Amino acid sequence: MVTIRDKQVLQSEVHDPFVLQQARDILDKCSSPRLMQQEVINAVERNAIWRGEECLNLLAPEAPTSPTVRNLLSSEVGTRAAEGHIGSTQRWFSGTKHIDEIESLCVELLKKVFKSNYADHRLVASMLGNLTVYAALTKPGDNIMTIPQPTGGHSSNRQDGPAGIRGLNVYDVPMDPNELTVDLDAFAARAREIKPKLVSLGASMTLFPFPLKEMSAVVAEWGGKIFFDGAHQLGLIGGGQFQDPLREGAVIMTGSAGKTFSGPQSGIIVWNDPEINKPITDAIFPALAATHQVNRVAALAAAAAEFLAFGEDYMAQIVKNAQALGNALQERGVTMLGAHKGFTRTHQVIADVRAYGNGLDIAKKLGQANIITNKNLIPSDQPEDWDYPSGLRIGTTEVTRLGMKEKDMETIADFILAVLEDKKSPENIRKEVIEFRKPYQKIQYCFD
Ligand SMILES: *Cc1c(COP(=O)(O)O)cnc(C)c1O
Repeated sequence: MVTIRDKQVLQSEVHDPFVLQQARDILDKCSSPRLMQQEVINAVERNAIWRGEECLNLLAPEAPTSPTVRNLLSSEVGTRAAEGHIGSTQRWFSGTKHIDEIESLCVELLKKVFKSNYADHRLVASMLGNLTVYAALTKPGDNIMTIPQPTGGHSSNRQDGPAGIRGLNVYDVPMDPNELTVDLDAFAARAREIKPKLVSLGASMTLFPFPLKEMSAVVAEWGGKIFFDGAHQLGLIGGGQFQDPLREGAVIMTGSAGKTFSGPQSGIIVWNDPEINKPITDAIFPALAATHQVNRVAALAAAAAEFLAFGEDYMAQIVKNAQALGNALQERGVTMLGAHKGFTRTHQVIADVRAYGNGLDIAKKLGQANIITNKNLIPSDQPEDWDYPSGLRIGTTEVTRLGMKEKDMETIADFILAVLEDKKSPENIRKEVIEFRKPYQKIQYCFD
């Protein structure tokens, strides 16, 4: 019998109730917990074949890791507990001598890649990296300025994310919707009114560099600071293919190691100033991290070593591929943002797909053809367009690591257009995508 309480639980469930019901049906059919476990393994396998071997993954926040990095993620050390700072007197648990080796190698490798005085490796995600920065460098009630979502901003720097949790007053960084970067004059005027303690330059839709030096000079008038949330651009920065925030006025940079950096999903923080060292590290431990997945830290260290050897070439090819893809799509009639500036200086291009429908439906249709992208707000969208925005974000990190070059971007553009213009059924395009993907299975830019 379904009780009122059951109904309430169902109605308040945030996840898709149909998908959860399917899972309950599967578990109900299992005659033992062992078979339930097998169902989990089967789902993982299905994903590994589909996403791992048969799809064109063009999601900008994704990157495939090398076999070595992947192996380290399941290493024995992942079952060990280590918290605190590196070194036996700063740990609560004993038995950490080799863990100290792993973690210190990770920290020193990160410092080498990002040419910074300090680096932290302990956070599982960049959301927590951003919360660390807000906890360390602001107080509740402080004013900050951050980029709004339709021009590329991310929830972590807005009222609904860590900045909001910290109780900050969040004001918009004025963006130029055509140039797709900060409107410097409007920024200077607005910032002089608000006098933000911190200006966060964090963008998930990121095509062009920001005028960091000029912005730093403005906020320096009242002792404000620039925080660069390089979640997406982290790899491009480490590989010398984007602006270099720590040398252009940012006091601190966070980033997601699982995006262009192509390591295990993690939050990385790098900074140079000894004065903020204590507040930052106090916010990490004991505030936001206790045990910190040393398997992930080992994988991160291995990815950083790969980066030292291959990062520059790999990241340069990602950008070349993104520019080639932007050009190929534009030539085929798709409206591309930033076309007049060469489409992009990053791993992403943004299509305005209004001529073909809305971003959500088009991303779904591309998905049926094994082409994975995401819907995206673009500057002309309003907040109420959130679920059905007009844009599509397309990234070239994974296809580049699989060895694709500029000419392959033409083929990918043909596939995308075939879906957008209903030239063939998604099912037929899907078969062609699987064939096209077949020779591109091996991860490049690594020692394996
Ligand atoms: C992805 C993203 C984050 C969050 O990173 P996670 O590692 O997924 O937690 C933060 N800021 C920006 C700008 C992002 O794009």
